[in-house]
Amino acid sequence: MATVGRQRRPKVGREVAATARVHTGARRWAATAALALCAVTALGTACARGAPRTAGTGAAVPPALYRVATSRPAVALTYDDGPRAGPGGTEAIVALLKANGAHATFFVLGEEVARHPEVVRAAARAGMEIENHADRHLHLPGLGEAALRRAVAGGADAVERTVGRRPHWLRPPYGALSPRVRRVAHDLGERVVLWSTDTRDWTNPGSGAIVRRVLGRLRPGDIVLMHDGGADRSQTVEATRQLLPALRARGYEMLTLDELVAAGRAHPTPAAGSATGAAPRPRR
Ligand SMILES: [Zn+2]
Repeated sequence: MATVGRQRRPKVGREVAATARVHTGARRWAATAALALCAVTALGTACARGAPRTAGTGAAVPPALYRVATSRPAVALTYDDGPRAGPGGTEAIVALLKANGAHATFFVLGEEVARHPEVVRAAARAGMEIENHADRHLHLPGLGEAALRRAVAGGADAVERTVGRRPHWLRPPYGALSPRVRRVAHDLGERVVLWSTDTRDWTNPGSGAIVRRVLGRLRPGDIVLMHDGGADRSQTVEATRQLLPALRARGYEMLTLDELVAAGRAHPTPAAGSATGAAPRPRR
């Protein structure tokens, strides 16, 4: 279990290095091509042209969502890798959200849902959105087709069994994306979502740093990446405690991802092209 836990801990920053190690030779070229497509995807409309098509239906696979184009001051706080029981995890974050009248979205791992179903149910009862982070914390682009489908469907099954609702968003572990991941997610009724603000909370930079990373470049429609599992997340809990009133003081609402997308439809950004949003802003 400890080994699994360690493998699960690498997050976005280390994911890049892990990806580089995995891909060599022809696989490195393929990975580079895939990443290039993702970069194009991140820029918006060009992505749709490059999108793979679902076999049989001919329907275009939607690009990944990075942020929502909306004029309404609202953000989606999102938490990955849970559920985690105890004071440094999901339960503490949900309690803070409830106390502040805020909503958030939790991207859960199927295997953790099986361990702590009651934590997920309580979050859902409190109005939180429960979405898919796959069955285990695997690098999805490195899996074969069948294993990839099992990983995505396994996470979705666990969510549905536990809260009675099938997820429709997939956040791939490590943010590791490929056209095939998007296509398989689409086949299974899910769209890929990443983020516009990476708090890098998993590096334990201090709650103040996490808060500053959210507020420093705050924009309506931001999708904020944090973590409620994988390790003790006390810094994220403390950051959430500070963030909720700080966002409120700036006139922002804290919505679930679905609520934020609906806000984007109701209050689109006049100049923005699409609700798929812009590329994530690289940070240092
Ligand atoms: Zn994760």
